Amino acid sequence: MIESSLKELSRNLAEKEISSVELTRAYLDRIASRIATVNALITVDPDTSLAQAQAADERIARGEAQPLTGIPIAHKDLWCAKGWRTTCGSRMLENFVSPYDAHVIERFNNEGAVILGKTNMDEFAMGSSNENSYFGCARNPWNTDRVTGGSSGGSAAAVAAALAPAATGTDTGGSIRQPAALCGVSGLKPTYGRVSRYGMIAFASSLDQGGPMARNAEDLALLLDVMVGFDARDSTSLERPAEAFTRLLDEPLSGLRIGLPKEYFGEGMSTEVRSTVEAGLAEYRKLGATTVDIELPASDLSIAAYYVIAPAEASSNLSRYDGVRYGFRAEEYDDLLDMYCKTRSQGFGTEVKRRILIGTYVLSHGYYDAYYLKAQRIRRLIAQDFTKAFEHCDMIMSPTSPTTAFEIGAKTADPAQMYLSDIYTIAANLAGLPGMSIPCGFDAAGLPVGLQIIGNYFCEAKMLNVAHRYQQHTDWHLKRSPVASS
Ligand code: GLN
Repeated sequence: MIESSLKELSRNLAEKEISSVELTRAYLDRIASRIATVNALITVDPDTSLAQAQAADERIARGEAQPLTGIPIAHKDLWCAKGWRTTCGSRMLENFVSPYDAHVIERFNNEGAVILGKTNMDEFAMGSSNENSYFGCARNPWNTDRVTGGSSGGSAAAVAAALAPAATGTDTGGSIRQPAALCGVSGLKPTYGRVSRYGMIAFASSLDQGGPMARNAEDLALLLDVMVGFDARDSTSLERPAEAFTRLLDEPLSGLRIGLPKEYFGEGMSTEVRSTVEAGLAEYRKLGATTVDIELPASDLSIAAYYVIAPAEASSNLSRYDGVRYGFRAEEYDDLLDMYCKTRSQGFGTEVKRRILIGTYVLSHGYYDAYYLKAQRIRRLIAQDFTKAFEHCDMIMSPTSPTTAFEIGAKTADPAQMYLSDIYTIAANLAGLPGMSIPCGFDAAGLPVGLQIIGNYFCEAKMLNVAHRYQQHTDWHLKRSPVASS
């Protein structure tokens, strides 16, 4: 059952070929014996998980099962889950036990899904390699000397190591898609506003969006069906008619126009990533799609704009960690100001402090117009580029990441180099567009390569169709990492 997709597991559970307790226990056993190898989870709580599994089995017995009832799912450790330690990868929240459920967790609970554990992540979701986690970096199941990507690296590694059949992540600048690509799994960042941010610890609120990570597109659709929905507690949550994300999966792709942005196929990409992605595009042509060249002229400004806007919002969001209300507080201090200072100096890691400093600077009087306002204007231009591009194509495709998984430690000394890991993913966040990554092959070292699909607003069902058809004709998503096969 470790090999099974969510759809198969759902059927096995409904037909009582397995119980949720058996399934959950099988995954907990795998976690226990492999956690040290990949460091993909920060917290597991077998008793709580198994109690949920027991309740799911009773619900199935009563004939009240939903598609994901009894399925164990690992959650990125920034989703608040009642009674669960929720650390956000930070010392600041090392001992924080959430008193409430995030909207997404509530929806999974209502579905009868099981919380399998909380996954490792870069501190406050800032990073592209998971090396910024206070709990140590997660390791790539394809080669444990390599990074998983970030910030949802623990979720990607958990799925790639078969420690969980599926996981949740969040994507502010690429944090679902880039680790999905580096770990050879599928991941989707929905249109901004689709998935409620209530109870999702904030990094940069105008960019943050939760989404699913799994082995294939069909599983992503099943997860999205649960995760998407209006929530009045998130002021940016969108009220839209309900839709089934599985409904278009099997549609043929003939006539699909794929836009290839010339800016995304330029320099800076590894030659092996390029040839692997090109082979993926050839597969799409065989499936009846055509490719058209498009332009996204403002895209070379996306990293610069992002690294003004995201830190600005982060500096504001993270001001709440002051040692007064909850979270870490320094043990020794002289007065209130000293308490703030020591708490934040000791509670936050280097990258988080760097972002707070940048954010405070760009928002300060005298610099606001020069940086923040200008970045917002660039953001508008980037969104307009996409609107124009979608007049000529239905989907945009590119590599997800310019390289495959790099060695642990290779980029930690050079943050600007690290920031380039998200060069192809960030623009979709700035524009609020949905994006996904699916495995499309391997480099010579046996490391996975991801193909990015960016769709127009609210086109998730069509994107899942585009990914699913590819996965019906290829088997990259079925390849198992050494840790998964162990
Ligand atoms: N790597 C990017 C950053 O560090 C994106 C992170 C994310 O999407 N959460 O900001």
